[in-house]
Amino acid sequence: RHLGFSAHGSVEVMRRFLEAYHEGMEFCQIQLNYVDWTLQDAKAKMELLKEYNLPVWVMEPVRGGRLAGLSEKDAETLAALRPEEKPVAWAFRFLQSLPEVVVTLSGMSNMEQLKENIEIWGEEKPLSDQETESLLHMAAGMMDGLLPCTACRYCTSHCPKGLDIPKLIGLYNDYKFTGGGFVPAMVISTLPEDKRPGACIGCRSCEKLCPQQIKISEAMKDFDVKPWG
Ligand code: SF4
Ligand code: SF4
Repeated sequence: RHLGFSAHGSVEVMRRFLEAYHEGMEFCQIQLNYVDWTLQDAKAKMELLKEYNLPVWVMEPVRGGRLAGLSEKDAETLAALRPEEKPVAWAFRFLQSLPEVVVTLSGMSNMEQLKENIEIWGEEKPLSDQETESLLHMAAGMMDGLLPCTACRYCTSHCPKGLDIPKLIGLYNDYKFTGGGFVPAMVISTLPEDKRPGACIGCRSCEKLCPQQIKISEAMKDFDVKPWG
């Protein structure tokens, strides 16, 4: 009796969908956590949904468990701010700081995680502005080493294979950050074979135009994602 939708698409795709189908929609589910805030444009997606007065349901709040197992250095950074909270709690407290979020779906593998989640969600302890800033700063550090594509699209008109290079690089970054992951394989599966990373012929025409000097051909070669089906 209640209609909503789930989206892994870009902000632009979501905007087109909403322009056509927003009537009757009551909620939207997106991948939202403090890393995807920028990595998957979750902030911009949430702002778009706000324009349509759609509350947000969250999937992947802990990014497949990645945000529960931080490096020692990152865990120490957070512990210095809130000694009583474990890293996984920070992922949830970040979401508690966003009034647009009304439902959070967290995958749990065992009874211990279930108990831990119940305990964390038993309390509302949203982050202060300063804590959010520190968390997002730490998240930016976690993304060091990912390709710095700005989606300027200078490269795309020079690709003889017509690849959507910035889109593929965005997926590649996700793939590298997650160590595989669900979304890159899913999205690649929706592309025709001649638009997937494997279609790159390594001509490097794109690289001559990239202001970020990204080694695009190497990334495409390294993007060994297994599409679904
Ligand atoms: S190297 Fe690959 S991505 Fe770059 S222009 Fe050539 S075919 Fe396209
Ligand atoms: S030219 Fe470089 S920065 Fe611009 S979209 Fe292409 S890969 Fe990204």
